[in-house]
Amino acid sequence: MKISILSGKGGTGKTTLAVNMALSLKNVQLLDADVEEPDDYIFISPDIFDTEAESVLRLIPEVDDDLCTACKKCVDFCEYNTLAMMLDQVLVFPEICHSCGGCKIVCPENAITEIERELGKIYHAVSGEIDFWQGELNTGEEKSVPVIEKLKTKIDTDKKVIIDSPPGTTCPSVEAVADTDYSIVVTEPTPFGLHDMDMVIEMLQEIQQPFGVVINRSDENSDHLIENYCSENDINILLKIPFSREIAELYSDGTAFVKKMGSWKSKFQLLYYDIVREVNNNEKNNSN
Ligand code: SF4
Ligand code: SF4
Repeated sequence: MKISILSGKGGTGKTTLAVNMALSLKNVQLLDADVEEPDDYIFISPDIFDTEAESVLRLIPEVDDDLCTACKKCVDFCEYNTLAMMLDQVLVFPEICHSCGGCKIVCPENAITEIERELGKIYHAVSGEIDFWQGELNTGEEKSVPVIEKLKTKIDTDKKVIIDSPPGTTCPSVEAVADTDYSIVVTEPTPFGLHDMDMVIEMLQEIQQPFGVVINRSDENSDHLIENYCSENDINILLKIPFSREIAELYSDGTAFVKKMGSWKSKFQLLYYDIVREVNNNEKNNSN
């Protein structure tokens, strides 16, 4: 079972849910795909953080000025504006290159070669029952999707897989959700939380991904904001994590709250098995 955890923006509680759920299960894999700001490792305290990180590489063009005749064919071809002509010299902006290789093909002078550039790294660690993988985008890089793709090659389908996805609704989030069995949308009971959740749900519905909602910083005076929306749209609220001083203090201390509040483990286990049941029921219904 592969579960992706999403939110409309950072700081909503995605990490809280991902790490506490992972710490409550056995035979589990946690993938931190929030590659621009991975922070799950802080809370699971891995025993070993492999120093031998794996590079995520991609190919970008390099122009040989001695062969280039400044015909500009490569510049005109590149629809991503990665190339520009300046004083009869081709400039390359590697951060926005999509590594399609097209400019090399259209160059009539064979002046373009492709060189490897590191986009980010994949780290591996083990913490208790958790087989932990983290993707990390190098500073200044913009293309996080290839890092997430590489991270997802580490998925072990014999384990319970939890993916902490990037926040938002753009390509990196879609890539993190792709091929997972179920998504959990984490939100908080505020007008902003509702707005952000609505955007995530729209994205999930577009890609026909099954999902449910977890309310973080739940508060009986304001939960109705989320509850009314979910009831009107026939969306399952899977769990509420209360607005609690103890949980907030543990979070700011870098401690996953199930480590100190052990009774919560059974709630996260129930959450997992509720999702398994829902996915199995959906599969049965679809096959009938
Ligand atoms: S590889 Fe593709 S995206 Fe990159 S510069 Fe060449 S044409 Fe543009
Ligand atoms: S297509 Fe080749 S020769 Fe023409 S500008 Fe680009 S690198 Fe130079």
